[in-house]
Formats: sequence, structure tokens, C-alpha cells
Amino acid sequence: MRKLIAFLMILVILGGGFFLIRSLTHTDIYQDSREFQEFADKAFYEKTLFNINQNVSVDYKYDEAFATAVRKDTDTGELISEFRDKKIKDRIKKCRAIVKKEKSKDLKHACVVDSTVHQSGNGAESLVIYTKLYEEQGSEMVLKKTDVRTFLFSEESGNRIKPLQALNVNYRAKASSFCRNYFNKAFGKEKLNRDWRKYVSEDDSNYNKFLLTGNTVIFFFDEDTVADPSCGTITVKIPYKYILSAVRPKVLERYINKNQPMVAVTYDDGPGGKSEARILECLEKNGAVATFFYQGYRLQYFGDNAVKAAEIGCEIGNHSWDHPQLSLLSKKQIERQIKRTNEEIKDLTGVTPELIRPPYGDFNNKVNSVIKSMGMTSVLWTLDTRDWESRNPKKIFQSVKNSKNLDGKIILMHSIYDETATASEQIIPWLQKHGYQLVTVSELVKYKTGKTPKAGQVIRSIR
Ligand code: ZN
Repeated sequence: MRKLIAFLMILVILGGGFFLIRSLTHTDIYQDSREFQEFADKAFYEKTLFNINQNVSVDYKYDEAFATAVRKDTDTGELISEFRDKKIKDRIKKCRAIVKKEKSKDLKHACVVDSTVHQSGNGAESLVIYTKLYEEQGSEMVLKKTDVRTFLFSEESGNRIKPLQALNVNYRAKASSFCRNYFNKAFGKEKLNRDWRKYVSEDDSNYNKFLLTGNTVIFFFDEDTVADPSCGTITVKIPYKYILSAVRPKVLERYINKNQPMVAVTYDDGPGGKSEARILECLEKNGAVATFFYQGYRLQYFGDNAVKAAEIGCEIGNHSWDHPQLSLLSKKQIERQIKRTNEEIKDLTGVTPELIRPPYGDFNNKVNSVIKSMGMTSVLWTLDTRDWESRNPKKIFQSVKNSKNLDGKIILMHSIYDETATASEQIIPWLQKHGYQLVTVSELVKYKTGKTPKAGQVIRSIR
């Protein structure tokens, strides 16, 4: 008898749950503007598992065939508001396009867009735009498609930032182990898609949609990835305390632990074109930095790369104006080679280089006296990958792998070769995986010695 009661109770609970879900996803068709508002107000809450801030405005636009309702925070800063409004317009356009494509124009549709901005607690603002498209089916409005977009901004500057500027490089691993467990427990086998594990792995393509709320990371999984399409977009909340080491104490600042191994990757001869753009992208994606020694004359062609390098926190050094052997020049000529390049770099990035790598590592007392008089530091290298000679990604990568201990060392490559870009795409994650922090040359000196690089000093490695 007890068993029967328990069984009946479970039925009641399940039934209640089912009824609740049904009442949310199936709504009677609205007939006028007032009924549409009621419908939209309910729709905002459907499958939205994050709290909306207090100060919101809602804009309802009733239309027989395609009605829209947009809800957004009113206390958001100007830069983010502008960005958000543009994105919301894009989303509504996209919904219209879906309706048009499916030629279901004579049916009623509603596009409900919910957006909110959250403070992360570490200097970021997260924006989420959650779009739901409903379609008339029989006598009800049924949720047809969901879409979530998330964006991060620096609280200080208002600039867009990347996931790895707010979270540490280990965040995907942490999130993956949490989510694997979560889906196993919270979702039945029949709800999970056959290849669901693919979408919770540590792969770079996963965990790019999230929200930082100050104490929780909320990850979004697109419709029909992890689970059955009927589940829509799935939200998984992970309290900071469970992935504490993955949340950066402060955004944009790469966290450097002076007691952990670090290495400085350097690239000469640029700014380069596509090859260097690939290297920059790889660095950015991995939350890593490098030092680029640029030739002044090339800045007029590839200045964009220099700007991007500076933006993502890379250091830019001087590699002369057009790559002469400095030791063969007069002091005046040497000075001109360096000064012109420094000025170009300052113009583009706002920062005057403090480091110089003399072309060919060609160096004597005369050259050094000029460099010293200009308050600059010379940087040579510990490991020459000889990428310019082999032009072979495997060999370039191997030369790094062959080095036993790279802590405190400076690796030399050239950003103007595609093969170097290919090798870098392997080397950068490999170094991180093996416990190396990628730092700029100045950071290497600073964190290893506690001092800043000195004028006239010649650096090959730091022990
Ligand atoms: Zn060079």
C-alpha cells in the first residue's frame, strides 16, 4: 500500500511538472495587442534561467503576422546599449528571414527578445541576447526556435573582450568536467543526443557562450547540440566556487605567477601580412602574448597588425627601419634607423618601444652605445627555431619540443612566413599545456628579476 501511495505521488509530481511545462510552451493565440503583451510577458520567462535586472523597458510591436517584443535593461552604459540595440535588430531580422524562407507567412509569428547585462565581479560586463521565435500551430503559439548570443565587455573601457581575457585558459577543462557530470545526471539518455559528448568536450568551439553574474558562470548550449531540439537552448549554471581557478581575478590583465615557468616567444621582421594575422589570432584565442620586433618601413603596409598586437597585450620592439647590418653604419645612421621606427610604432600604437633586436643579431660596442644612449635594451634569443631556413612547420615545432627546459628563455621566430604561423598554432598551445606562461620579454625580465630592463643591457635569457 505504501508503495502504491508513493507511486501515485510520483505520478502527481511528474504530472504537475508536465502541466507546468506545457502551460509555458503552449499558449493560446493572442487576438489583439493587449493579448499579445500578456503572451510576451509570459514568454520572457520561458526557459530563461537568469535573473533580469530591475530596471527594464519593454517595447511591444503588435502585428497580425509578425509581432515583436523586446525587453532590455535601462541602466546600461552608452557603448554597450548601442552595440546591443544593433544586435537585437539583427536578431529580429533573422527571425523574419526564417519565417519568409519557410513560407509560413500566413501563420502568426512572435519574436521575443530578452536582453540583460551583468557585472562579473572581475571587471567585465556580460551581455546576453536571448531570442525566441514562436509560431501558430493549431490554436496555440508554439516555441519554434531559440537563439542565444553572449558578449563580454571591459567595465573600464567599454571595449569588447574575449572569453580568455575574463577566464583563465583552464576554464574549458573545468567547465567540461562539471557539464559532463551534470548532463549525465540531469538528462535522461533519451533526451541526450547521440553525439552530446562532442558539445561538452574541452574543444575550443565549446563554452564560448556564457554569462558572468558575479558569483556564477552561466553556460549556454545551442538548441539541438547536447540534447533533443525540444529542450531548446540549455543553460547550465556553475557557481564561481566550483571553477574558482578558472575565473581571472581581474579581466584583461593576464595573471602571471612568478613561481611558475615562463617563456617569451618573439617574432622578427614583421609586421607581416596573413601569416602574422594568424599568429595574432592564435595568441588571442589562447590568452597568450608574444613580442614582435618590427621593421619600420613595413608599418605603412601592415599597421593593422601592429595595432592588434598592442591591443591584445603583446609587446612591440624595434628591428630597425629596413634591416641593415647596424655595425656597418655610422652612429648617426644607426640612430636614424631606430628613431624613425620608434616614431612609427608610437604613432600607431601609442607606445614607444623600449626593446630592440638588431637585425642578424649583429652587434658591437658602437651599436650598443647608440642603443644605450636612446634608453633602449637589446634583446637577442636563447632558442633559434631557424624557421627562416627550414620553412618546415614540423621542424620548427620540433626545435621547441627538443628543448628540455624553456623556463626564462627567449624563442626566436619570424612572423612573415606561413610555415611559422602553422608551427605557432601548435607551439603556443603546446607550451601552455606543458605549464609555461607565455609572457613578453619585458614581463620575463620583470617577473624573473623583479627589475625592469635597463638601458644598454643585452638580454639573451633570464635565469
Ligand atoms: Zn630580422
